[in-house]
This record gives sequence, C-alpha cells and structure tokens, in this order.
Amino acid sequence: MKDRLNFEVMTLFPDLIDRITDESIIGRAKEAGIISVRTHNIRDFSKDKHRRVDDTPYGGGAGMLMAAPPVYDCYKHVVTGIKGSSICIFMSAQGSVLTQKKAKELLGYDNIIIVCGHYEGVDRRVVEMIADEEISIGDYVLTGGELPACILIDAVSRMVSGVLAAPECYENESIASGALEYPQYTRPYDFMGMKVPDVLLSGNHSEIDEWRRKEALKLTAENRPDLI
Ligand code: SAH
Repeated sequence: MKDRLNFEVMTLFPDLIDRITDESIIGRAKEAGIISVRTHNIRDFSKDKHRRVDDTPYGGGAGMLMAAPPVYDCYKHVVTGIKGSSICIFMSAQGSVLTQKKAKELLGYDNIIIVCGHYEGVDRRVVEMIADEEISIGDYVLTGGELPACILIDAVSRMVSGVLAAPECYENESIASGALEYPQYTRPYDFMGMKVPDVLLSGNHSEIDEWRRKEALKLTAENRPDLI
C-alpha cells in the first residue's frame, strides 16, 4: 500500500496550485509529509528578457501558445531533483478522461510530474518529448491546466494511506465500488419532517447492508446507467 507520494507541478500559476492543495484534507496530508506538492514556475525558465513564455501559433489562428524551450528546461530541472520512479502527465482537453482506475494506477509511481498548459495550449513538440500521458478531466475546455492538476492530485492523494481515516473511506465510494454510493444521513433524525429511513436505526447490519446495496443500485440505474 502506498504511503508516500510526491507531485511536481509545472505551471505559470504556482500560487493557484499551492492555495488549493494547502487546504483541508490534502493540506493536512502535505503537513504530515504523506504527500508533497512542489510547484515550478515555467516562467522562471524563460530566457527572454521580458520573461515571455508564449508566442503566436505558426499558421495563424487566435490566441497564444506556450513555447517549447521554457517548458523543456523546467522539465529538465524537475527531473534532476527527484528520486525513484516517475511519470509525466500533461493536463489536456485532448487526453483520455480521468477515471478512478487511472488515479489508482498512478499510485504505482513515487513521483507524478504534472504539466499545466495555459492560453491556447503548449507547442506540440515539447508535449511529445516529455509527456508519458495526456489526461483530461472531462469533455469541456478550461482556461488552464491548474484546476485539472489539482483534481488529479486530489483524486490520487486520497488513496495514499494515512490521507483518509481508513481505506474503506474510498473503497466503498461512488465509482470506486463500480456503482454510486448509497444515500447517507446523520443527525438530526427528523429534518423539517423528513425522517431517516428506519432500517438505519434498526441495528441489524445485514438488513442495513441489504438496504444500502438496493439503494445504491437504484441510484446508479437512475443517474448513471452506463456504470451497470
Ligand atoms: N487549444 C486547446 C485548449 C487549450 S486550454 C484545445 O483545443 O485542446 C489551455 C490549457 O488548459 C490546456 O493546454 C490544458 O493544459 C488545460 N485544459 C483545458 N481543458 C482541460 C481539460 N478538460 N482537462 C485537462 N486540462 C485541460
């Protein structure tokens, strides 16, 4: 079981990554040293006197493209600073869509290097040169790869041991178990006239399990028939 994982994030907006991953469960896991998230500002690797990192695309078209050299130099810097196995992932609307299965697979590495595009994207040559995989977080286009990177970090990190209280926390969950999770309730018993299903107060664990299994199936059939 994985108990330590390092992320190296290459981005033009390192503060975005730091702020998001410093909070809550992921923030505590960072503090405890279970995971580490190191950010690298691609702009620091620009050789341009104005620290430019983007340029107009060959062949014309709207927007600016991140140029290959600073991305490549940043990558070289990252690689020399890590030990153990690593994979380099380019966050991209053109990648294969992130799944729980893929997130679990990534636990097999000691280091996950994540490249965040911005603007119109990144010069194709450097992507081909450095990225082992391209991952999308869904079929929509965002302004940058920073939020996708944080989503990937979150999805993978919560399966690192010690990040959540117990492995059951993620093993029983929606998608991970092959279906959506059953509905859950906490106190108060009566919320504006809506009561908690009696079976959950019965103390009969096999009945509770059976009820949960049925509810999970019902919900999955309704919301995500493609999972069944
Ligand atoms: N021109 C590109 C989109 C650029 S969006 C295209 O048509 O595919 C700018 C950057 O945001 C991308 O380089 C990528 O790093 C990130 N990005 C946008 N949408 C994303 C998604 N769905 N998943 C992961 N990264 C995404």
